[in-house]
Amino acid sequence: MRLRKRIEIEGVVQGVGFRPFVHQTAQRWGVGGWVLNDSRGVVVEVEGPIECLAGFLWAIRSDIPPLASISRFDLSDLPPTGETTFAIRASQSGQRVQARIAPDTYVCADCRRELFNPADRRFRYPFINCTNCGPRYSIVTAVPYDRPNTTMVDFSMCTACQAEYDDPASRRFHAQPNACPDCGPQVRLLTAGGEPLPTDDPLATSVGLLKQGCILAIKGLGGYHLAVDAENDATVRELRRRKVRDEKPFALMSYDTDAVVTYTRAEPEEIRLLGGFERPIVLLRQKMGSTISAVVAPNNRFFGVMLPYTPVHELLLKDNFLALVMTSGNLSDEPIAFEDAEAIARLKHIADYFLIHNRRIHTRVDDSISRVFHGKAALLRRSRGYVPQTFTLAESGPVVLGVGAELKSTICLTRGDQACVSQHIGDLKNEEVYASFCSTIRHLQQVLDVVPEAVAHDLHPDFQSTRYAQSCVGIPHFPVQHHHAHLASCLAENAETGITIGVILDGLGLGSDGNIWGGEFLLGDLHSFKRLGHLDLVGMPGGDAAVREPRRMAFAYLLATYGDTLPPLPLLSRLSAEEQTAFRQMLSRNLNSPLTSSCGRLFDAVAALVGLRDIVSYEGQAALELEQIAAEGEEGEYPFAVQGEAETFVIDWRPLLQALVDDLLAGVDAARVSARFHNSMAAMIVDGCRRCAEISGVTQVALSGGVFQNALLMETVLPQLRDAGFKVLTHALVPANDGGISLGQAAIARARLSAIHQC
Ligand code: ZN
Ligand code: ZN
Ligand code: FE
Repeated sequence: MRLRKRIEIEGVVQGVGFRPFVHQTAQRWGVGGWVLNDSRGVVVEVEGPIECLAGFLWAIRSDIPPLASISRFDLSDLPPTGETTFAIRASQSGQRVQARIAPDTYVCADCRRELFNPADRRFRYPFINCTNCGPRYSIVTAVPYDRPNTTMVDFSMCTACQAEYDDPASRRFHAQPNACPDCGPQVRLLTAGGEPLPTDDPLATSVGLLKQGCILAIKGLGGYHLAVDAENDATVRELRRRKVRDEKPFALMSYDTDAVVTYTRAEPEEIRLLGGFERPIVLLRQKMGSTISAVVAPNNRFFGVMLPYTPVHELLLKDNFLALVMTSGNLSDEPIAFEDAEAIARLKHIADYFLIHNRRIHTRVDDSISRVFHGKAALLRRSRGYVPQTFTLAESGPVVLGVGAELKSTICLTRGDQACVSQHIGDLKNEEVYASFCSTIRHLQQVLDVVPEAVAHDLHPDFQSTRYAQSCVGIPHFPVQHHHAHLASCLAENAETGITIGVILDGLGLGSDGNIWGGEFLLGDLHSFKRLGHLDLVGMPGGDAAVREPRRMAFAYLLATYGDTLPPLPLLSRLSAEEQTAFRQMLSRNLNSPLTSSCGRLFDAVAALVGLRDIVSYEGQAALELEQIAAEGEEGEYPFAVQGEAETFVIDWRPLLQALVDDLLAGVDAARVSARFHNSMAAMIVDGCRRCAEISGVTQVALSGGVFQNALLMETVLPQLRDAGFKVLTHALVPANDGGISLGQAAIARARLSAIHQC
């Protein structure tokens, strides 16, 4: 019996080799029909005997190309026409483009084989790619995704490349960045002064320079890296000095996982994440006694490691280095450099040489950073390899723009039931980062072919993102409270909409009452929220200075706990009498000492109290170090007190601080104190959730905010919450920190807009 079916497929199905895959599958199963790209994705009509058709349908759902993903697969019946051959038909044009662009990805196994095969015409060609791999988002200038709308427009294909491009049986059928040594981009080596360095083989020469201890600026996929040999201690130190980066860890890149496991203790799930086509930086536990320079990640138990993701990386690393430091090509706080002239101007004081190429980067994309806890990967920074993958929201709705917060900025645009969160942009206080923020909004609007009908922003009036939103004329503005946005971000990522308890623990965010929040128990959904409980307030002596100096926070908590007679802790001997007097005055007179319920500040204070970190050189450093020193297997904890009426409870940390100080005075070591503190925070979260559940009857909990990037806290609290009967939502593909705020804002704006439309 013959049948004919029509299949409509949506998702990431264009520019990823989907049509040749369908074509090959059809030939394998001996079915007739055709496939074409339309504005929404791919349409297939297929006919043949029922057994063959069943095999074909199974294969095109389960064996899809590595970069493809299917979000909709609709099947309908048609009368058979007797078609027995299968064809790829020309795309339907003239319609609005809805198909999605794929992220930039690694070098696939087939391309890697060709890269190292002396008989292949692309042997050692640094720009080899195919429909299953290579650059995408970073080179796209407009839609639809076709070569003229990418930076590959600068190169015209030679006859051999064009033949592959036109051949449905080729792995390079319609591979837009297709290139070879005869027709494609080339690498060049320059001196720090920008002069060409004569060499027949810039890559081999670069390897030699790296081995000699030189610092190279290397143009990659989404920007420049600064690279040095990670085993060369003197060079790593010199890079730190020139980059003006005292302590923040450098990322490493190794050729394969065999190399990685010689200096880290990577678990199977981490190995899988390292080797995935997204190729994020993965945080891995260091192995003692490795040959990697100790200055790569000072005071840190982890290395951030990635595997090669461009042919240039493969060629530099194979058989040459255990690991290269590959840190983003910028001075601290500046955005990663991605344009050649700009990169040379900015990096010439850091790099000795530049390994550059002539394929333009259209969009700056940093490396993504991921961490595995409880066997589950969670992104700390979502960028290359993940963007512009979208999130499916619970329902369809109007186009809205979420402009995010200020630190770790991202933006979010929605279209239909999809939400697209941009790559990591950075700290908007920096002017160049702000320019990058504006161009990202323009670019994503163009690529998604949308115009926002509303814009959502933070309550904070001084954020650059808030100012940007206020400059958008003619569309409604939705101010969104920071921690409500965190809650909504977690709901949206999990495609949930119901009323949920939000435990939102982070650094700082402006509250609805004008105070700075950050240790919050909220009850809410995408429309609105109530604040059911929070950590008690404390002053931040010096405002922003107290964020940079955990010792100030430690002093403020001590003063609030003990009053005039402070316990004789070593911390106090590290503060001068003048400093102590100044902090006291600021706090008692409320001078430049904004009140906060921040949980991040409490972590900072404890890090200073145990003698770990008085002043930080990057955000979140104190809390990270506190987590890393915690003793394993410690079960003790410190008490909290809870005050206030039934519906607004206030968690008093004074008993915790007293018990913690008693431990310190009794000589309990910092590792145990840290572990006990983490246990106490987990107990505080579970207790707070129980109170919220009693008040509301709600048992679904969302955990969000930067504090939840703490793996120890997560691993402690998750089983306890589940044992207590809660359903727990956490982040995985959206960062728990402010990188996720834009998604939450967009989800809230959509809910409010639809509520207005219903009125
Ligand atoms: Zn490939
Ligand atoms: Zn060619
Ligand atoms: Fe936050």
